[in-house]
Amino acid sequence: MTLEKLENFIDGAYAAPHSGQWLETENPYTATAWGLIPRSDAADAEAAVAAAQRAFATGPWPALSPTQRAAMIHRIGDTIAAHAEELARIEVRDNCKTYKEMLNQVKRIPDWYHFYAGLADKLNGQVLPTDRPGHMNYVRHEPLGVIAMITPWNSPLMLLAWKLAPALAAGNTAVVKPSEFTTASALRFAELVYQAGLPSGVLNVVSGLGAEVGAALTAHPGVAKVAFTGGVSGGRAVYQAAARDLKPVSLELGGKSPNIVFPDADLELAARGVVSGIFGSGGQSCVAGSRLLVASEIHDNFLARVIELTRKIRLGDPMSPETDIGPVATRPQFDHIMNCIGFAREGGATVATGGVQVADPAGGPGLFVAPTVLTGVTNDMRIAQEEVFGPVLSVIPFEDEADALRIANDSDFGLGAGLWTRDVARVHRMAARLQAGSVWVNTYKATSQISPFGGYKMSGLGREGGTEMIADYTRVKSVWINLTDEVPYGFPL
Ligand code: NDP
Repeated sequence: MTLEKLENFIDGAYAAPHSGQWLETENPYTATAWGLIPRSDAADAEAAVAAAQRAFATGPWPALSPTQRAAMIHRIGDTIAAHAEELARIEVRDNCKTYKEMLNQVKRIPDWYHFYAGLADKLNGQVLPTDRPGHMNYVRHEPLGVIAMITPWNSPLMLLAWKLAPALAAGNTAVVKPSEFTTASALRFAELVYQAGLPSGVLNVVSGLGAEVGAALTAHPGVAKVAFTGGVSGGRAVYQAAARDLKPVSLELGGKSPNIVFPDADLELAARGVVSGIFGSGGQSCVAGSRLLVASEIHDNFLARVIELTRKIRLGDPMSPETDIGPVATRPQFDHIMNCIGFAREGGATVATGGVQVADPAGGPGLFVAPTVLTGVTNDMRIAQEEVFGPVLSVIPFEDEADALRIANDSDFGLGAGLWTRDVARVHRMAARLQAGSVWVNTYKATSQISPFGGYKMSGLGREGGTEMIADYTRVKSVWINLTDEVPYGFPL
């Protein structure tokens, strides 16, 4: 079978990698390679950053008025909407999340572009009152320059939109390094937005390995900021590399999010919420509710409901509308999940359901892990502390509200937390004390471009979404003007 050969997208055109090397990319469901992606290196990062710098400084992009820039960003949103099915299919071929999920996700991406397009002409400066006689002082918000955007494989185009939409709205340009496992959608997206009229060099895509082209990009002195989504070790490496030039970074990292169920909750709804909170996307979600904290008095009854629902989950072909979970997206990820189940057992956890590799019902070679519920877990166990990023739920009982809070916050992570209760006072007490960037009450995983998203502790740095975070893609300049004919001697501070 001839493999489709992809190229980087630099300065508005496709470009072969400088190294002349490609990496195979495969469909995890069929376990067959379908394409070759460029194995880019520092030379490609250099070319992409140079193109983005030119586009930032000269040419049509900086000459656009904010209104015209907004119109361009609205067109990007419209372009995605018009190609949603195609883009979703490309993503499913690479990460094997279900087509129905990815289509739904891609259809929501335009909301991000439209929302931030609406802010492009609202980056108001401010004239400040001043206590310097005869002086005027005002503040400008200026774009930073070239933003490096590094994205993971689980929700590639959506997590790119979280960065690209505000960055463009503020007037920046971008170089994107998608995950080596899910490169194709970013390249097709770049092609489509250029067809829609984006000026050359404003969006560039270089593919390859994080340790190679990703690291080269992060360390490049021409990059003004790095916006990263991925695991903690990658995030840490990015932070360290960015420190050399004191580049700002945003880091959206992993999680070990608790879903906390109190006895007064609607237990049917809570069970559905807990099961879809962990097993949706096969657990390959940063906000997967991977720790179920359940009140001791309802533990057995609630666990039975969770297990019953878990066993109904249908594994299979991600393109089939009947499928709830596709295969694990990569072989290293599959090995990691099985290893986590192994050390959980060794640590004393009991497999209540799942815990094993299962075959594709259609007989294919994809790597499937049975949705797994582990009981007998205490929060100090490794399985309760480390991110699995797969379909594994750890069940931990608690005694009372204070105990639930203590266990929930006893984690290096702090991305999301779910709360299932009908007690309004408890909702507000807990919401204020949970160390998590998002708290969901009687729901889970609700996100929106209108609302900030991000982590406490090792779950990250900075926020994505909401109006205020657009300021993270600008720098502030204070301008002082002497309105008199006098100059104070020595300019004392
Ligand atoms: P990784 O951290 O492995 O990779 C993320 C991206 O970073 C990839 O493009 C990767 O390249 C690149 N990368 C890795 N190391 C470096 C480096 N030293 N310098 C520059 N770039 C680098 O994460 P995964 O792709 O495995 O994604 C899963 C992780 O992402 C999970 O931990 C998950 O929780 C987190 N995540 C967080 C979200 C959030 O919003 N908080 C949302 C979604 C996922 P390569 O192609 O080589 O892998």
